[in-house]
Amino acid sequence: MKKKIIIIGAGISGMTAGIYALDNGYDVTIYEKHNIPGGQCTGWYRKGVFIDGCAHWIVGTNPTSDLYPLWRHIGAFDLNSTIYDTEYFCKYDIDGEIVTFYADDEKLKEELIRVAPEDKKQIKRFINGIRAYKHIKVPVKKPLDLMNLFELIGYGCSMIPVALHFAMYKHITVEDYLLKFKSPIIREVFHRFFGSNYNIHSMAYVMQALAKKDAGVVEGGSIKVAKNVAKTFIEKGGVILYNQNVDHILIENNTAKGIVLDNGDVIHSDYVIASTDANHTMKQLLQDKYADEYYETRFNNREDYPLSTGLLLSYKVDKILYNQPKMISFKTNPINYEGMIIDELKIRNHSFDASLNKIEGTSTITILINTPDFLYDNLSKLSKDEYNKKKEILGEQIRQEVIKYFNLDSNIISLVDVATPLTYERYTNAYRGSYMSFITTDKSKGLMRKGLIKGLDNFVMAGQWIMPPGGLPIALFTGKHAIIRVCKMDKKNFLDLDYIYSNEALKKNLREPS
Ligand SMILES: Cc1cc2nc3c(=O)[nH]c(=O)nc-3n(C[C@H](O)[C@H](O)[C@H](O)COP(=O)(O)OP(=O)(O)OC[C@H]3O[C@@H](n4cnc5c(N)ncnc54)[C@H](O)[C@@H]3O)c2cc1C
Repeated sequence: MKKKIIIIGAGISGMTAGIYALDNGYDVTIYEKHNIPGGQCTGWYRKGVFIDGCAHWIVGTNPTSDLYPLWRHIGAFDLNSTIYDTEYFCKYDIDGEIVTFYADDEKLKEELIRVAPEDKKQIKRFINGIRAYKHIKVPVKKPLDLMNLFELIGYGCSMIPVALHFAMYKHITVEDYLLKFKSPIIREVFHRFFGSNYNIHSMAYVMQALAKKDAGVVEGGSIKVAKNVAKTFIEKGGVILYNQNVDHILIENNTAKGIVLDNGDVIHSDYVIASTDANHTMKQLLQDKYADEYYETRFNNREDYPLSTGLLLSYKVDKILYNQPKMISFKTNPINYEGMIIDELKIRNHSFDASLNKIEGTSTITILINTPDFLYDNLSKLSKDEYNKKKEILGEQIRQEVIKYFNLDSNIISLVDVATPLTYERYTNAYRGSYMSFITTDKSKGLMRKGLIKGLDNFVMAGQWIMPPGGLPIALFTGKHAIIRVCKMDKKNFLDLDYIYSNEALKKNLREPS
């Protein structure tokens, strides 16, 4: 009889784990508290308008990428999918000067030198950093601790071209790095890129992926990706049970034996995988019974290990915005929202993907605003009515700024939705509403963890909390890694079927499975 695996959460990591578990002969059921798959990789309708609530870029969309075989294997996209490559990260309006942060490193170099010739030398160094970063490799195929000596040496050698930059960039914040430039324009652009406390490593990582055309988005948006993956999982024989809130993990003799739902139902299994938020996993699902230094240090020191939290505002514009940039950042009059000051907006124009828009002649724009840690506390103190009212007020203030910037007729733009950290917490149990995991700062230590809990058998964690700063690729390969670990616990060889989509296999003219 097949051994049974229960996976908690149908986000990208949970479903990926499910697919690799099915490949390896397990009987798999996913328990998901929401009524749709995807977790944070999602989209939703409000007032008839579709809002893509996630991917600005998905690293691994280029066939030469290490992540590509995994995305293809879980069916996130296929050869018929339209992938929109990112021509530029963002356009920055700096006092009327538009600076385009091109994905292509040569174009980016020229653009930055154009606006800041005085920083030519430093700009070239930065571009060289991005070029070196193109060699960066995340151990996607298997976790580092499970590699044999030869694999480790191979991995180490592959990192040599980037080693120096990696060691340097991990310990410099974007805020410190921008001081290397004389030009106030360049300083402002870097300041607005991600937020001040990220280390420069995170910026270089994203830029190298964009430069390699390895960070596109899939037509149909994030929810399409999530539904595609759920389809693959179900077609392979997996089961997803929705509206099933897991209360805790059933543990006997320090071995995970199944789950207990919030209605009291007990379901037994041979292994349990939690693909949920780490804080929720440690405190709720494992009932705070297992001390874990890695997470304790991070949860108790949010200054050195801040979280990625944000506000996502969405608007309908009764006009097609094809001629407007896909992403533009501009300064606004300061807006005080529950103690945080908003003075810059990054507008994402979704018109590039017509399949997302069901109302003819209209466009959707979304604005993701990074928020400070205290906002969660301030919002949590509000009554429901106050909270809703303040969201409306903020939505209107920002609407006015957008009208002013784009010189729009005020009748053609309307607020559709405001999601806050409390929204993300409510829907996905995300810790303080964090939409990625810990931000990688100059002080962050230890990049990756195994996803095992000391003293607890037959239990593995998957998902973005295994490796900061989180994001879809980490959800993806930690899902796969979770099953490599289960197979190891079960003393069986891991069957890896994503190889067929790898560049190596494609070069050997192996046929893709139909
Ligand atoms: C606005 C926004 C923009 C983003 N942009 C990008 C981007 O451009 N590129 C990128 O790579 N990433 C991006 N991300 C991050 C990305 O969405 C996440 O990193 C990724 O989806 C996390 O996947 P996961 O499987 O680790 O976790 P989750 O998606 O959080 O999945 C966990 C699942 O577990 C379920 N669950 C939780 N608790 C329970 C319980 N007790 N019982 C049952 N089920 C439970 C949740 O409902 C959820 O479905 C963005 C996220 C947001 C919100």
